[in-house]
Amino acid sequence: MLGSLRSIVQEVNSARDLPAVLEIIVRRVREVMHTRVCSVYLRDKESGNYVLMATDGLRPSAVGQVHLAPGEGLVGNVVTREEPINLEKAEAHPAFQYFPSTGEERFSAFLGTPIIHHRIVLGVLVVQQEEQRRFDEGEEAFLVTLSAQLAGVIAHAEATGTLATIRRQRQETHFSGIAASPGIAIGRAHIVTPRANLATVPYSLCLDIEAELVLFRQALTSAREEIREVGERLKCELNREERALFDAYISMLDDNSLAVEVCDRIEQQLSAPRAWAEVMLEHVRRFEAMSDSYFRDRAADVRDLGARVLTHLHQQQQSERDYSENTILVGEELTAAVLAEVPREKLIGAVSVKGSSNSHMAIIARAMGLPAIMGVQDLPYETIHGVDMVVDGYRGDLHIHPGAELKRRYDEIVEEEQQLAHSFDHLADLPAETADGHRVRLLVNTGLMADVARSLERGAEGVGLFRTEVPFLLRDRFPSEEEQREIYREQLEAFAPLPVTMRTLDVGGDKALAYFPIEETNPFLGWRGIRVTLDHPEIFLAQVRAMMKASLGFSNLRIMLPMISGLNELEAARKLIERAYQELLEEGYEIEMPPLGVMVEVPSAIYLIRELAERADFISVGSNDLTQYLLAVDRNNSRVANIYHALHPAVLRALQEIVNTAHAEGTKVGICGELAGEPGGALLLVAMGYDMLSMNATNLPRVKATLRAVRQADSKLLLQQALKMSCPVEIEKIVKSYLKKAGLKVTLQP
Ligand code: PEP
Ligand code: MG
Repeated sequence: MLGSLRSIVQEVNSARDLPAVLEIIVRRVREVMHTRVCSVYLRDKESGNYVLMATDGLRPSAVGQVHLAPGEGLVGNVVTREEPINLEKAEAHPAFQYFPSTGEERFSAFLGTPIIHHRIVLGVLVVQQEEQRRFDEGEEAFLVTLSAQLAGVIAHAEATGTLATIRRQRQETHFSGIAASPGIAIGRAHIVTPRANLATVPYSLCLDIEAELVLFRQALTSAREEIREVGERLKCELNREERALFDAYISMLDDNSLAVEVCDRIEQQLSAPRAWAEVMLEHVRRFEAMSDSYFRDRAADVRDLGARVLTHLHQQQQSERDYSENTILVGEELTAAVLAEVPREKLIGAVSVKGSSNSHMAIIARAMGLPAIMGVQDLPYETIHGVDMVVDGYRGDLHIHPGAELKRRYDEIVEEEQQLAHSFDHLADLPAETADGHRVRLLVNTGLMADVARSLERGAEGVGLFRTEVPFLLRDRFPSEEEQREIYREQLEAFAPLPVTMRTLDVGGDKALAYFPIEETNPFLGWRGIRVTLDHPEIFLAQVRAMMKASLGFSNLRIMLPMISGLNELEAARKLIERAYQELLEEGYEIEMPPLGVMVEVPSAIYLIRELAERADFISVGSNDLTQYLLAVDRNNSRVANIYHALHPAVLRALQEIVNTAHAEGTKVGICGELAGEPGGALLLVAMGYDMLSMNATNLPRVKATLRAVRQADSKLLLQQALKMSCPVEIEKIVKSYLKKAGLKVTLQP
């Protein structure tokens, strides 16, 4: 059964559109389950009724004609009960309704399972049989499993279909995601596809058909040459069968009919990559559908060949890649490196199908002041290249083809935002203190050089977290010690004499270096942060040497260790840093040993806080990871984003415990997670006694405005109230209403 399940899902996944998806489902399920009928009913969004959309076994003329309200008939009952109905004799069931147009009077046995996506019943999958018999447990389990797997594909295909209509009619439409970085962007979609994947080439048209044909032919020639060269090079190492594969590739590329098929589509104005991908995928499907396993295996070869040519097409397009003035990057999983490819002045927003508001990509977007939405799970992003859109980073709304009225409303918000930002201008030189005179340090989180000027303009008192992995992520190999020294020196010099806290390399989790892949099934609980660098002292030593060398003459460097879960890690790291320091003294560097801090972001560190505070020079809480690990919610997973709460009572209590214990040891405590940069979060942290709050430069002025407007004594009352509550949503509510009552217009966020 598993084999059938996989092959149905695979086939469905590669279907072109919703009708094709449904046709494959009914045909294949009927075949695999040996039933007489298989049908799919889907919810009509407008009426809320469930409509027969495809059938293999009932009269085809009934498609589109049978409508059932929830609770009506057997299908409507599957919808309301949200569980399967399995009947030996359907006609005897009180809810049974007979539709003459279907011809279903002949069928007695009935099994219907709900197709549920994000808690909504999208449709019902039904199989029927003439004889009176109950479908057995295995059959029922099979249909339930299949429905669960198909739900996402159907939702995606539905959205794609809606978009196809929208594209034709340029009709305004809306998708929801997770608000990841505040602000509004009104611009044009630029789709980023993972390289060389036939299935994700965006639907796009070409402007110059002749030029596109030339591009395509050049890519074919280059691919042919490449395959020939590789074949030549490996001649001695390959057996006859393997050599034949190279010959087969070349003869496919030489096959004129393939080129003709692609050129035909280009002549209809399709872009060369899209035309090539469509044609090759059709060939792949044909091979996959063959019953002979030898030919089925050839599907992978065709896919591989397709990807090779696609790479050449992309390479040729690379030099011509044009970003429009108001580019909104859209992709399945955007990364820092992808953002960095677009000239900053042209990039105004970002939309990612995967990820959540605590993903690193979201953090970078916030640091850049770039409105962003993550986790727009049902967005068929491949089809919207070049389309006008509005990104509402406050609410997580994406509007495609916005009409004049919608645009006008958003233009107003943009203007209001600019005014609000200007109203903070005068704060830069004022101290960060509460209305009753409690002083805190407001620092910035940096990663890119571009952060520096904005931070200083806004009155940052130093860097609380320099994410050193960012320059590592933007390269195609590890930067050398000297390259690192230059990067670090720029930061230290720009802020001197203010402190700059440099975190040692923190990769793993959702921060992957393309040139140092870490493949794990559970990356957030795996090899990340200090675990990687302690296992690779050569990487760690080069980095801390570069940091210390860079500090020559400034004395403002502080080093901080990520993901510490035990004292042994702190001691091992300290030994390496001391060794590097001694080496540098011997090499003649006149530098001071920098203070060494520990990040508290793993729950075990909370229970070791006394010992850690005793041994470290400072503590900085990484509340993003601490929240993820305390609540066991993957910060990067949009499916569970609704249960990731930085104001969860367990998190608040842990934060309070950390600062109390560390202060009892006489150690200063800062926090550099995103919570510190939210006005409400900052209030509570100051009430707890945090000495330093580190945040992105965009949020610094609004946090300062909040603190200056509120008395610490009052924020302590708010904190006391919050610490007694058990529901995170209620805590968020009281904090928001406190800000509102205090008359603080610090954000446009609803
Ligand atoms: C954190 O975890 O809170 C933190 C600041 O580190 P990062 O977000 O880079 O993992
Ligand atoms: Mg972290």
